[in-house]
Amino acid sequence: MVSTCVVIRYNHSMLSEFELIARYFTRPPAKDGPVRLGVGDDCALVAPPAGEELAISTDMLVEGRHFFAGADPYQLGHKCLAVNLSDLAAMGARPLGFTLALALPSVDEAWLAAFSAGMLALADAHHIELIGGDTTKGPLTISITVFGSVPAAKALRRDGAQAGDDLWVSGSLGDARLALAMLQGTAKIDSTLAEAAELRLHRPTPRVALGLALRGIAHAAIDISDGLMGDLAHVLKRSGVGANLNADALPVGTALQQQVLVTRRAYALNGGDDYELCFSAPVSQREAVRTAALDCATPVARIGSITAESGLVVSDASGQPLSIFADSFDHFSHS
Ligand code: ADP
Ligand code: MG
Repeated sequence: MVSTCVVIRYNHSMLSEFELIARYFTRPPAKDGPVRLGVGDDCALVAPPAGEELAISTDMLVEGRHFFAGADPYQLGHKCLAVNLSDLAAMGARPLGFTLALALPSVDEAWLAAFSAGMLALADAHHIELIGGDTTKGPLTISITVFGSVPAAKALRRDGAQAGDDLWVSGSLGDARLALAMLQGTAKIDSTLAEAAELRLHRPTPRVALGLALRGIAHAAIDISDGLMGDLAHVLKRSGVGANLNADALPVGTALQQQVLVTRRAYALNGGDDYELCFSAPVSQREAVRTAALDCATPVARIGSITAESGLVVSDASGQPLSIFADSFDHFSHS
């Protein structure tokens, strides 16, 4: 006897892996750009500008770890690329292209369409191409590798800070951390400011233009992903110097300005997810820094100075040292 059996599968898709790649992650590369061959072969081919060094960086985002389960796919697509572009910005590198390694629990076409649209909109804004990747089944994980280029010996490295340099930061700090606290139910934000703060968390702006403008001006730079104090500490260690930081000179985010002083300081100094640039530059370049920032419409604030003595001293505007400790995010020391 032949029995018929109807199997209903949710999330089942007729799309094969290759159709999925073709539909959501393949676009012909621009003819006049650096990409000679994009998605579809065993490797992509990219021609970096003559005389430049390649700048390469990878960032991985895992569901439940770096973003909430059920996160908006358009914003997620934007953020995955933005955090990678932020690393290029911190080196003063010009973006050329990127690859995408994607583990998906299932094929959800609405999710893929929105994710790809968010990611590719930011790629378009920076005139770069998705040049390849890998696609597999597994817990939602997104790993992007970005490629950029920078003239030989012109990269803004972490080991270049010098005693006497001014210390600067771009944009504003702490609103992303405040938005996270709001979503976790531990903070309240004025309703008129909440949306903008959430955008700082979900749709960060990589400071690519500022990084490029600071070539030949800044001595060292880093992007702030894990909190200003912790990230600055990497620069100080690699450069063999210390710093004085004026907590009252920090450009505190608009929503964070409404919070009590202790929260303002804690989130501006240790918040994380800001994706601003922290950089050092000689005092003689103060005007050049201001001009560079104006040219790319990115505000900058002078927040302290580099010292020959090691250690990071945080003071208030009157010079009174504050006992604030770096508490930046570390995946293996936080539960
Ligand atoms: P291979 O068998 O050589 O690993 P794949 O079959 O994994 O190649 O991928 C086929 C092509 O599609 C390659 O050019 C690869 O770079 C590209 N690709 C795979 N996954 C993605 C993705 N998520 N985004 C962009 N390109 C992808
Ligand atoms: Mg492969």
